Amino acid sequence: MSTILHIAIIGAGASGTITAINLLKKLQQPASIFLIEKRNEALYRGAAYSSQLDYEPLNVYAGRMSLYNDNHDDFYNWILANKKSSGEITQESFVSRRWYGEYLEANLKAAADKRQKEVSFAIIPTATINITKAAEGNYLLQQEDEKIIEADFVILATGNEKPADVISKEAILVLGENYISNPWNENPMENISIDESVLLIGTGLTMVDHVVSFKKRNHSAKVFALSRNGLLPRPHKHSPVYKIEKEITSENIEQLNANIVEEIEKAKSQNLDWRSVIEALRPVTTKIWQALSDESKNIFLNKYRIYWDIHRHRMPPASHNEINEMVSQNKFEILKGTITEVIKTESAFQIYYKDATILNSVTVNRIINCTGPSGDYEKCDNPLFKNLLAKGWIKKDKHNIGIATGAAGELIQANGNVLENAFAVGPLRKAMEWESTAIREIRTQAEQVADKVVSLVNVRA
Ligand SMILES: Cc1cc2nc3c(=O)[nH]c(=O)nc-3n(C[C@H](O)[C@H](O)[C@H](O)COP(=O)(O)OP(=O)(O)OC[C@H]3O[C@@H](n4cnc5c(N)ncnc54)[C@H](O)[C@@H]3O)c2cc1C
Repeated sequence: MSTILHIAIIGAGASGTITAINLLKKLQQPASIFLIEKRNEALYRGAAYSSQLDYEPLNVYAGRMSLYNDNHDDFYNWILANKKSSGEITQESFVSRRWYGEYLEANLKAAADKRQKEVSFAIIPTATINITKAAEGNYLLQQEDEKIIEADFVILATGNEKPADVISKEAILVLGENYISNPWNENPMENISIDESVLLIGTGLTMVDHVVSFKKRNHSAKVFALSRNGLLPRPHKHSPVYKIEKEITSENIEQLNANIVEEIEKAKSQNLDWRSVIEALRPVTTKIWQALSDESKNIFLNKYRIYWDIHRHRMPPASHNEINEMVSQNKFEILKGTITEVIKTESAFQIYYKDATILNSVTVNRIINCTGPSGDYEKCDNPLFKNLLAKGWIKKDKHNIGIATGAAGELIQANGNVLENAFAVGPLRKAMEWESTAIREIRTQAEQVADKVVSLVNVRA
């Protein structure tokens, strides 16, 4: 092994790209950075910012999407410098996710151009399927194309795993190619003709983008969305700052819920709505999550999560208006229940779904799975996780929402020990931090992991 230290980042979505940008800016010692991405179209963009849908707005104000904690206007200024728009763009506009992908790419390329001479940077366009250790102690990353990459540091930035299938294997077989299991890999609408009726499973933000995309392409057949509760994300509205003055953490979820409801009432008395309280909770959400007992976390996931999600993960007002218009024109309908059976008819599929004891059915031509990223790393399609779990190098968390990580994103092994020089950035850290999927948290994690790796490189150089 040469004296130049090698750093491998697995996954080049937002998490991997922002980590690479930070490393390129901060590394002063000789080092090689490898950014490994299995999907060419997702390079620098990942699932969220490579969208090919006709309607793909960010769900967060432009003014809050900077890559940098020390320059919150960076993305907004980039838009003003690089994008022409028919209307005025403000800090509170919801601009294209594809623009955000371009912004990520531009920042990475600028950081690579300005890097120290002794720091090399390479994109490796293939999947990492396993990691082993050489006798010298460094990591050997086994790639799908059978190449081996040597690395002293490994950063997992593999992000959003495809949604888990919530219909049976039999139903998937019956549907064949009329079932789209992964809504982010390609444009699922490309092969759907405008007179085919569609059922979207899930009623979150991914569903919203798909439904409005159908509207934008003048889809003539009806679109349905089905979920257990039939609840949709609430729309954004300007929310003035509210300050939570009381300690609201509790290990008991019912107490925590009561504390939050009390804050919402207090905000109301100051003419502020619940959005201001949700925003005020953001900086302390991880602390709140970590204070909950395991039992309370379970209750939260089964009983309260849906209410948290629809208030926390809000949709742009324009999406809300489009959805309401489609409902009023009878072009879109929200259904409540879970699918029990799929039967092929002469020209379509009859989908039976049950809400408590009531059995209903709807006839559609296509189904798209919009149930959100899977956090079950044992069952997901990514062979890297199967291999790392099998040898105990990573540990699945008991709530099936991520893997065990330390405070600085260190990977925690099944035996409870830290896996040396190995880190995670992004959604993988959800089990530890709960808020771990949006840019605001990702940019902080990416910077911290880069700082940690740079300090370790400096010690070894
Ligand atoms: C549709 C959608 C819209 C969103 N909108 C917003 C928003 O408006 N604002 C906001 O703050 N957040 C938003 N988010 C949250 C979003 O998850 C994060 O902002 C971010 O995209 C997560 O990035 P990531 O790199 O961790 O994951 P991903 O985007 O999933 O990227 C991970 C990458 O790793 C690659 N990969 C995985 N395994 C391997 C392997 N073994 N070998 C090689 N490559 C691998 C994948 O191909 C993928 O490209 C949105 C998320 C989604 C899904």
